[in-house]
Amino acid sequence: MTSVAFHTLGCKVNQYETEGIWQSFKKQGYERVDFESIADVYVINTCTVTNTGDKKSRQIIRRAIRKNPEAVVCVTGCYAQVSPGEVMEIPGVDVVVGTQDRNKMIAYIEEHQETRLPVNGVSNIMKNRIFEEMDVPEFSDRTRANLKIQEGCNNFCTFCIIPWSRGLLRSREPEHVIEQAQQLVDAGYKEVVLTGIHTAGYGEDFTDYDFADLLNDLETKVQGLKRIRISSIEASQITEKVMRVIDDSEKIVRHLHVPLQAGSDSVLTRMRRKYTTAFYQQQINRLKEALPGLAVTSDVIVGFPGETEAEFNETYQFIQTIGFSELHVFPFSKRTGTPAAKMEDQVDDEVKHDRVHQLMTLSEQQAKQYASNFEGEIVEVIPEEVETIAGENYLIGYSDNYMKLRFKGERTLIGEIVRVKLTKAGYPFSDGEFVKLLVDPQLTTL
Ligand code: SF4
Repeated sequence: MTSVAFHTLGCKVNQYETEGIWQSFKKQGYERVDFESIADVYVINTCTVTNTGDKKSRQIIRRAIRKNPEAVVCVTGCYAQVSPGEVMEIPGVDVVVGTQDRNKMIAYIEEHQETRLPVNGVSNIMKNRIFEEMDVPEFSDRTRANLKIQEGCNNFCTFCIIPWSRGLLRSREPEHVIEQAQQLVDAGYKEVVLTGIHTAGYGEDFTDYDFADLLNDLETKVQGLKRIRISSIEASQITEKVMRVIDDSEKIVRHLHVPLQAGSDSVLTRMRRKYTTAFYQQQINRLKEALPGLAVTSDVIVGFPGETEAEFNETYQFIQTIGFSELHVFPFSKRTGTPAAKMEDQVDDEVKHDRVHQLMTLSEQQAKQYASNFEGEIVEVIPEEVETIAGENYLIGYSDNYMKLRFKGERTLIGEIVRVKLTKAGYPFSDGEFVKLLVDPQLTTL
């Protein structure tokens, strides 16, 4: 049997797509082996979001080549899409496929095996207007079911290379989303996470079907689905209709991730983000009024070119005013080819790191503050991992409103929905006590 090994860099979409690529190899009779083993084919799914993403991708490619110089080394993903020439120049790379035409990958590999010549399968992504279907009915690590619903982005924020690696926004046909969600539920998953590059931009390329319609259909048409999570939604995408659907829903979780990036209007303008802090705040206020107890998480970039102390303080205060349940804080990292990389007044690393530290401390305070509202309450958690402490098994997982909880419990509960009493709010996780299993594990296949 021919063996294939995968390595995935970067985001959830890449993880999803590696699973999709694996499905096509599986259908052709390949055996999947660990990336550290000797394999016949190595597939490296690369990331290009920062210059470091490129560098790490190159390191992993070289590692595969060293491991088995006889193997076919196939490079795919965002770095391959944006810089195919650079990837082809690495001695030992045999096949390059970007972020489209993955269904041709095995044919390219076979072509290379016959001719021994390198194959460059990368073509212009900007011309693509069609969502490329990939079948992912299960995940190898069995913990989370990501469900990709759209591809690409039309925003062109000044720090971001992604539209160039993924192309313009295109949505998956609703029937395919529903069908895939049903397959995931049938495979035993309780929760699906709707994923994409600009996830809630779903439907912007359709005339009579939007993101709210999709949420509604997932809720009503997928039998046995317990939880729907939206991986990310822009402030402008929280329309009245979306809010109504969330409010009426019994399955969409009480958590939204709404990227902020900066809490200063002048920085937002330089980033070419399409909202002001006033608009963002108004959207969050409406959300919190409509959905009490909602957890709002966000991403923030600090040290964007020209960010002054005063602008950083505006961001800090804005975050204090909003009250997030957790923040992901990133120091600005130059990405060659983006307008921000060429901007003057790049911020010193030391200043960036100090600002990252300040915001992470604030995030920790806000996370504890949010979790403390639920002390003594019972929440529903899906355990994802086990940790053994002093010979006892502790399960770690997320509640519907995205609090990370740790509690004593058996490994068999992984992937199930369990009721847990939150006994002590903390960070990175709160402590809990197992109360009861919500679904009989005998009835599930996970
Ligand atoms: S919205 Fe901005 S940051 Fe997000 S993928 Fe699009 S261009 Fe990149």
